[in-house]
Formats: sequence, C-alpha cells, structure tokens
Amino acid sequence: MKYSTLFQKFLLTCLILCGMFLSCSSDRQTGDTQKTGPMPINVYSAEKGDYIMSEAVIKADEEWKKLLTSEQYHIMREKGTERAFSGKYDHFYEHGIYSCAACGLNLYKSEDKFDSGTGWPSFTTPIAPENIIKRPDKSLFTTRTEILCRRCGSHLGHVFNDGPKPTGLRYCMNSVALQFAATGK
Ligand SMILES: [Zn+2]
Repeated sequence: MKYSTLFQKFLLTCLILCGMFLSCSSDRQTGDTQKTGPMPINVYSAEKGDYIMSEAVIKADEEWKKLLTSEQYHIMREKGTERAFSGKYDHFYEHGIYSCAACGLNLYKSEDKFDSGTGWPSFTTPIAPENIIKRPDKSLFTTRTEILCRRCGSHLGHVFNDGPKPTGLRYCMNSVALQFAATGK
C-alpha cells in the first residue's frame, strides 16, 4: 500500500516536471519564430544577366496599402483577379522585361509572351524559376497553381498546363501585378 502511494507520488512529480519542460521548450520555440531578420534569396537579374543575392521584402498590410493602388492591393495582397481583357498588358508586345509591380523583381521576358486569347497577359515561362513561387490554390472549388513573387510574396496569377511549345505552360498573369520596362534589342 505504502509502496504504491510512493510510486503514485513519483509518477505525479514526473508528470509535473515533464509539463514544465514542455511548456518551457514551446515558449522558446515561439520566441525563435518571432525573430525576423533579413532573409537572403538568390534571384535572377535581367540587368546583370546573372543571379544576384537579394533580400525578401516583408511588409505589414498597412504598409502595402500605402505603397500600392487599391486595385494592386486587392489583386496582389488579397489574391484578386482583374477583369479579363481589361489589363494594359493583355495586347501589348513591346520588347522588354516585366517586373513585380510591388517590389520590382524581374519576372518575365517579352520573348516568352504570347496571345492566349484569355484576356490576361500570358507567358510560357518565367525569367527564372527562382524568381517565382508556385503554390497549390484550392479556391473556387478546383485546384489551381498560384504564382507568387519570390521576393515579396505578392500574388501574380496562376499557371495552367494548356500553353504552347516549348513548355506547354500558360502563366496567366494580372497586368496590374506587372510593371513593364522596355529594353534595347
Ligand atoms: Zn514582388
């Protein structure tokens, strides 16, 4: 009888110690994830013609609201979609580079742009796979692949498997999320 009471006390002490240890370590983990410093990323720069080290652009919603137009904010930060055939780059075929309208990261080249007839600027490939992020998007009762800017995480559009050669892909972008700059041939 005495032995089992002692054993029960021992077990209880063990449980309390375990609980303390777990709560301490989870506190420590939370503390670590809250620390945010510069996050280096390796991305392609059209100007340099090579990969460069850059830093992720992380801003609070309030900051983005000040920097972007209300349409850009809705599409790029709230994952909206511009009306088909309404965007300025839908039927636009000048020679140059399309960059992220929020952070300026180079995203697409005019050589890879084609007329998809969908009403949105479409490309067969990004300027470099490292400059974009692909993420499954299960909204609208279907699974699509969302495309985001690698540097600032802004929503740009989606990619579909019905594009022309050579990739067979159609990167369907919102004009509002892009910023074009002409380059000499
Ligand atoms: Zn960006």
